[in-house]
Amino acid sequence: DTIGANLDRAVAAWPDREALVDVPSGRRWTYAEFAADVDRLACALLASGVAQGDRVGIWAVNCAEWVLVQYATARVGAVMVNINPAYRTHEVEFVLNQAGISLLFASLGHKSSDYRAMVEEVRGSCPELKETVYIGDPGWAAFTARGADTPRDELRAREASLSCDDPINIQYTSGTTGFPKGATLSHHNILNNGYFVGELISYTEQDRICLPVPFYHCFGMVMGNLAATSHGACMVVPAPSFEPRATLEAVQRERCTSLYGVPTMFIAELNLPDFASYDLSTLRTGIMAGSPCPVEVMKRVVAEMHMEEVSICYGMTETSPVSLQTRIDDDLEHRTGTVGRVLPHIEVKVVDPATGVTRARGDAGELCTRGYSVMLGYWNEPEKTAEAIDAGRWMHTGDLAVMREDGYVEIVGRIKDMIIRGGENIYPREVEEFLYTHPKIADVQVVGVPHERYGEEVLACVVPRDPADPLTLEELRAYCDGRLAHYKVPSRLRLLESFPMTVSGKVRKVELRQRYGSPEA
Ligand code: ATP
Ligand code: MG
Repeated sequence: DTIGANLDRAVAAWPDREALVDVPSGRRWTYAEFAADVDRLACALLASGVAQGDRVGIWAVNCAEWVLVQYATARVGAVMVNINPAYRTHEVEFVLNQAGISLLFASLGHKSSDYRAMVEEVRGSCPELKETVYIGDPGWAAFTARGADTPRDELRAREASLSCDDPINIQYTSGTTGFPKGATLSHHNILNNGYFVGELISYTEQDRICLPVPFYHCFGMVMGNLAATSHGACMVVPAPSFEPRATLEAVQRERCTSLYGVPTMFIAELNLPDFASYDLSTLRTGIMAGSPCPVEVMKRVVAEMHMEEVSICYGMTETSPVSLQTRIDDDLEHRTGTVGRVLPHIEVKVVDPATGVTRARGDAGELCTRGYSVMLGYWNEPEKTAEAIDAGRWMHTGDLAVMREDGYVEIVGRIKDMIIRGGENIYPREVEEFLYTHPKIADVQVVGVPHERYGEEVLACVVPRDPADPLTLEELRAYCDGRLAHYKVPSRLRLLESFPMTVSGKVRKVELRQRYGSPEA
């Protein structure tokens, strides 16, 4: 199916169920109303001469229009290019040119950033960009009105000519380990993934999903939006960008049954001083993904947020994204110790990164995935695509994993983050989990930094619970003494207020290494 055909099915089945709620503006759409607005926008795209395969950019914070653009571009077979809302002129110019974007939808601005001023600044150096439409500006209404005279038959004819294997989306990776890469994805890739992710948490038209995760990232637009519309559930947009209070207020007010987030988002919500005053009793499930979840956090999510059926997902932008997921009745150990088991119609294997030979269950190696979910390739970067996807169509994830006897997979860490100190392999996650139990530590990241004699040494970057009573290196080392092998014990400590983050909420360890890598830093 194409995404448009899938939406038609939802409208036929649940015309009067709510599809979308934009909490900040109070606007709401039933499936019938949502599909009508998608059609209006799709006709406007046709009337504006958007051809199949043309790149249409969206550079916007979360809002209802983001979702309308997502479905309207899919209906006309344009390739939607998600642009990171945190980008500034230099990066936007790069993406506009690299993807050859001819039409851009953009927010007017967010917080202190003025998107319009930034677009004006780079427009002259983006020869392919013909038009920019600002969301929240009269120009938006003028643009959508353009399709008023376009017969719906023209739209249906365009849709009939599309193939579900056509590219319809370029999504950039989070840029956690370097410069983001643009993954080219088809209807078939992401629609199936959204459907199965929703299927495994038993979504129905009764579910209401609170989405504080960015739509620009696959977590929002696939695991959120596509999972919702393929099961008739409702998408609830709590705020333009993540805010813990607005998120919990939206759950309470909209009686959400599901809540998404990366672990750091759940931590921020649980740590609100007035957390206990929110009524979250309607929650049943949700998804935590993107980075490992500390055990203590998972316990509180289940007990205090009532998310007994919360699911952990593992995936990457290049694989649509999810390939492993816990099931709703899995126990705490599987939800924190593993990232679940493989999704239907996807294969995973764990190989020796040097030889490519499959490792025995229980042994660590590089995780590889294969199936409908593997991207078409990196946009205009055939060499990088060839490095990531091998001749057998296996995507090499760059993550170290262990496949257990029961088929559940543990993520050990990223190959790039592994610390090699004097020939010993150290997995940062293991050290982080241990340090997390120290009462003076609110949050911690462990990275390897250059060392003359050992090659690398272990640096702990700590956000103290009480800045007035910070942790010392001596205290840290005494705490580890006798409980952690000596080579894993951090030899350096940095106290920080917060960590450098990607928009998808991941800590940029590369940046920690760059900033604090030299001994005098
Ligand atoms: P870049 O590829 O640009 O460096 P990125 O890999 O963070 O950034 P994404 O595609 O957003 O970009 O994220 C995929 C990665 O996130 C995976 O390769 C894995 O390292 C990590 N990840 C995803 N889910 C989980 C999870 N549940 N537990 C641990 N790590 C996870
Ligand atoms: Mg990656």
